[in-house]
Order: sequence, then structure tokens, then C-alpha cells
Amino acid sequence: MRGFLRWLTGKDGSSVATWEEGEPDITVDVHPAAPPKPPAAKPEPAKPSPALIVQKDELLLVGVHPGLVRVVLRARWDGAAFRIIEGLRSKERQAMMVSSGKSQTMKSRHLTGHAVDLAPVVGGSVTWDWTHYYPLAERVKAAAKAEGVPIEWGGDWISFKDGPHWQLPMRAPYLA
Ligand SMILES: [Zn+2]
Repeated sequence: MRGFLRWLTGKDGSSVATWEEGEPDITVDVHPAAPPKPPAAKPEPAKPSPALIVQKDELLLVGVHPGLVRVVLRARWDGAAFRIIEGLRSKERQAMMVSSGKSQTMKSRHLTGHAVDLAPVVGGSVTWDWTHYYPLAERVKAAAKAEGVPIEWGGDWISFKDGPHWQLPMRAPYLA
């Protein structure tokens, strides 16, 4: 026999079920239709992540310590205008630089990937004018601080100032 339970609320608030024959005269939709969605807001055009914009000079970061790479890229993404001049350097090139007086050591941190050279870019061109190295140095130092990477600037050296030169300190975990 087909029937259904009709639940009634008694005067004292209790529920009382009665059996009734036939089809239930009320239907309860247990899956009510979702309310209409408000019209979707027009999405903002996505800004490309700076990580996806690779500049040609960043190829020079191949073989450079990842901590130093983070500092260089952070400085760039934060708006510093510079070109990466050199990263990892071969022994042969280092020997050439020493003989031509451009470097004074065969223990350069470029040989182990712990140094990079950065030159400020002004009006689209690299400049060797010292006045532009100081503001760049501030930005690179700020980027290093933000990345938690200790860094040394050749411009802070006393005996042989090297404006484009940046290196990780010669201590663990940045030893060769
Ligand atoms: Zn250098």
C-alpha cells in the first residue's frame, strides 16, 4: 500500500506522525535551486609576473649562486635600472683581466659564481659614471636585506673600489 507519514505539530509542540494513504500532497525539494549568481565582475587584465619577463642579460646569472641571483632579480623587479655585465667567469678570462690590470686577484669570487657585476642604466644606456652607482647600490642593498642575503659592494672597498662589483661574503654558506 502506498502512503506517507504526515508530521504534525501538536499543541504542546511535540511532533506527531500519522500514516496517510495515497501520494503525499506536499513536496519538499531537498536540493533547492541555487540562487541566481550575480553577474561576474569583469576581471582585471592580469599583470604579467615579473618572473615571466626574462631579460637577455639574465642569462649571465647561469652558474651564479641562487642567493645572489635572488638579490639581483629582486632589485630589478623593484625597479632598479641596471644591466648585468658579468656573472660566472672563466679562469682564462680572469687571468686576462689580471694581466690587463682590470682585476688584482686570481681568487675572484666571479670564478665560483659568488659575484656579479652590475652597471646602472641611464637613458637606456649603461653608464660608468660613479654618481649613478651610489643610488643603484642603495637599491641592491635594500633588495639583499629583503631577501635576507648578506652582500658586499665593491664600491665600499677602500683600496680598490669596484663600483659594478657585488659579491657574497667569503664565509659559510657562501664559500666556494
Ligand atoms: Zn666583479
